[in-house]
Amino acid sequence: MKSIRLGKTELQVSELGFGGIPIIPLGFEEGVAIVRYCFDKGINFFDTANMYADSEKKIGAALGSVRDKVIIATKTLKRDAEGTAAHIARSLDNLQTDYLDLFQFHNIATDEELKQVLAPDGAMKAVREAMAVGKIKHIGFSSHNIDTAVRVCQTGLFSTIQFPFNFIEKEPLDELFQVAREFDMGIIAMKPLGGGLLESAALCFKYLQQYPDIVPIPGISTREELDEILALYESPQSLSQVDKDEIERIRTDLGKDFCHRCRYCLPCEQEVQISDVMIFRSMAARLAPNVAVALSKGAMESVDNCTDCEECLAKCPYNLAIPEIIREQRKNFDQIASQF
Ligand code: SF4
Ligand code: SF4
Repeated sequence: MKSIRLGKTELQVSELGFGGIPIIPLGFEEGVAIVRYCFDKGINFFDTANMYADSEKKIGAALGSVRDKVIIATKTLKRDAEGTAAHIARSLDNLQTDYLDLFQFHNIATDEELKQVLAPDGAMKAVREAMAVGKIKHIGFSSHNIDTAVRVCQTGLFSTIQFPFNFIEKEPLDELFQVAREFDMGIIAMKPLGGGLLESAALCFKYLQQYPDIVPIPGISTREELDEILALYESPQSLSQVDKDEIERIRTDLGKDFCHRCRYCLPCEQEVQISDVMIFRSMAARLAPNVAVALSKGAMESVDNCTDCEECLAKCPYNLAIPEIIREQRKNFDQIASQF
């Protein structure tokens, strides 16, 4: 597999990376075996987070013996120095390593969160301290919010950005990725298969291969999934007119209720957890149904608070019919939850 330069980190990562969420529902040994299979097939870039259940532990167990041959990225949702220091220690332990190649601030969703990270006692302080003693090599961030992400890039403090990017979510091409390139940041595409909603891997990766400086990190939970994607990298093909027409058809079809998790609609005065509810369909597609139900229960119950005030409608840049969609998702959730 080809390697590409991950921006100013100067890390050489495989052109296809590994996303650590879909190994969560697998048994421990099965998860370890999949991670190891991906390594054996040429992937050297593994992304995870300590909030992904035992994903870090599975990756650590699979790659401990080949640590010097892989590039490991993980993340924290903490915004304060103390909590972040504890998370760094936990990730090092889980991943069976004494350094993290890339440590990312997970889902910086607002300018306020960026301020918290950069405050004197903020998360960045702990990361700088860990860098000074060699426990962290590079700093990055992830986000779903384009406006905030642009401002995070413009601080010049981060070496990588991780953002959703696929043929349904192509908005970051307009400005965000250009800004990231100006700052020589590595660009990591999360959700290259639309968070499990895009069924054709061929279409997804043909689309992404138009952008060879962007590293997709699909979640892989079976050998067959990896083999299918690898075949697309061994014999890359450009998009045909038939492919382009199909992409347009899917965009039109899914665009009506495809949530980009940007959180512009929040806060809701009734404390409906709108974006967490909106993504239930995607979670159910990627995770085992009982796991998706357990993770979404609180958010789905918040739908009952909705008063149809419609304030969120005006805030959603994608014109999604939020009150209607969250109720559909609640019904969908109830149906799946009733099986357990
Ligand atoms: S319509 Fe419902 S979800 Fe939207 S802001 Fe009002 S209460 Fe919240
Ligand atoms: S509902 Fe709209 S505004 Fe809210 S997170 Fe989804 S795409 Fe963003």
